[in-house]
Amino acid sequence: MASPVLVWFRDDYRLGDNPALAAAIETGAPVICLTILENAADGLRPMGAAARWWLHGSLKALDESLRKAGSRLLLLHGPALEAIEAVISATGASAIFWNRRYAAAEIALDSTIKKRLTDRGLSVQSFNGRLLNEPWQVLNQAGKPFQVFTPYLRAVLARPVEAPRPAPRTIPGTPWSKGMTALSVDLEGLGLRPTNPDWATEFGGTWQPGERNARQRLIDFLEGSLQGYALGRDAPARDATSRLSPHFRFGEISPRQVWRAVSHLVGERPELAPDAQKLLSEVVWRDFSYQLLHVYPHLPEKSHAPRFAKFPWDNDPKNLKAWQRGRTGYPIVDAGMRQLWRTGWMHNRVRMIVASFLVKHLLTDWRHGEAWFWDTLVDADPANNAFSWQWIAGSGPDSSPFHRIFNPVTQGEKFDPKGDYVRTFVPELAGVPANFIHKPWDAPASVLKDAGVELDKTYPGPIVPHGPARERALAAFRSLRDGEYGTELDR
Ligand SMILES: Cc1cc2nc3c(=O)[nH]c(=O)nc-3n(C[C@H](O)[C@H](O)[C@H](O)COP(=O)(O)OP(=O)(O)OC[C@H]3O[C@@H](n4cnc5c(N)ncnc54)[C@H](O)[C@@H]3O)c2cc1C
Repeated sequence: MASPVLVWFRDDYRLGDNPALAAAIETGAPVICLTILENAADGLRPMGAAARWWLHGSLKALDESLRKAGSRLLLLHGPALEAIEAVISATGASAIFWNRRYAAAEIALDSTIKKRLTDRGLSVQSFNGRLLNEPWQVLNQAGKPFQVFTPYLRAVLARPVEAPRPAPRTIPGTPWSKGMTALSVDLEGLGLRPTNPDWATEFGGTWQPGERNARQRLIDFLEGSLQGYALGRDAPARDATSRLSPHFRFGEISPRQVWRAVSHLVGERPELAPDAQKLLSEVVWRDFSYQLLHVYPHLPEKSHAPRFAKFPWDNDPKNLKAWQRGRTGYPIVDAGMRQLWRTGWMHNRVRMIVASFLVKHLLTDWRHGEAWFWDTLVDADPANNAFSWQWIAGSGPDSSPFHRIFNPVTQGEKFDPKGDYVRTFVPELAGVPANFIHKPWDAPASVLKDAGVELDKTYPGPIVPHGPARERALAAFRSLRDGEYGTELDR
């Protein structure tokens, strides 16, 4: 019998449109499907707590799908090379297939593993399972990576999108030997989900990880909410966005699958084209983040614009804590931070508001915010999170200018005009009428009394006043402009 081949699943926990799995099956050899909980091994960034919660569900669902196809998931724990070499020793595997990943430490590790295994005589093949285009495929006329989104989007739209591969019905397998059984670890024993205390009690009611659920969410979204997405996506009280981000994060759905489904629908219902284009452009933002992460591997760790190295951050730990707990006294900020804590997700518009508030109103280094999001988001993504934080901070390769400082009151009034979003996540303000819900400190005493609100007792007053905080941020930024100039932001 032919020696088996390995498929190493990493953030591509699906059977459909999985090129590494498809190529392994095409060899005709028995396929062993494995994944490795690498955690902090090999310099990889440890996964945050909310993402670990998701990973548990994702791996469980993957194993179920594999079993339906006649295979099963071999779950390993520890440094990847050791784990893979142990499987090779136990099975005599002759080849390994994986889909690529793009954070610097991941690339370095994969290159090392590839070299070691190739030196041992194994065939190692990698594929694009995560993106529409590889970071090196979409280049400007000078043959360089794009630095700015709009021309990047134009270039992407001019390229064909590869058709997604169907999920295999069966996966040729091999019974597990004693050696393999000895290597496998038990998912439940890995402690990916919190128990004591279980801070994720609301996650289960909000999210269902897994490929089948990702597909269902896409179908529900396309049938129910795509119409009106372009406008509705900015209203946090409405369920108007796809909420596919954690499914994307764990590769339970591929951008090619989404592209295909959306294009197909627009073929049948051309009136949806403007909403569809907006959605697809968001999916391209995701590719763009990955492209930038690939070109600038330091994005999660360091401000890209050199002058931000000297930014006079205040970094007051009390302010950071108030922000994390949703107790800044700005209702839209607090609602967002509490949505994040309770559900592991936050609406995009509110992510922008809370991020701007932390960096600019509180003069807190964006990396503190990035780290908190990394720990608390179920969709915490190495490229999107770092890139988005630098975009808001004004320090990124393509970013919003620093002097664009969101006013949390007017943002709230514009995007949550009735205050429904605030009422959902800041229940102590539920009785405040819409005209004061985003600035309860302006409400007459009688209105607050009727609403059962006592500022600084039942709900905090503003942690910093908006006007002076804005001026302080601009002065801090000007101190950089008067000093050393970086090159990146001045284009
Ligand atoms: C400070 C900050 C941090 C963020 N951190 C993350 C993160 O860790 N992980 C993450 O996936 N997104 C992140 N985003 C981007 C965005 O907020 C989420 O992708 C979006 O809210 C997910 O909701 P959705 O799936 O309903 O999006 P939809 O509007 O339905 O969009 C569809 C898909 O497009 C992609 N997408 C949407 N908006 C963006 C964007 N601005 N940048 C890149 N891709 C996008 C996502 O994969 C999303 O699932 C961050 C944004 C900000 C401002």
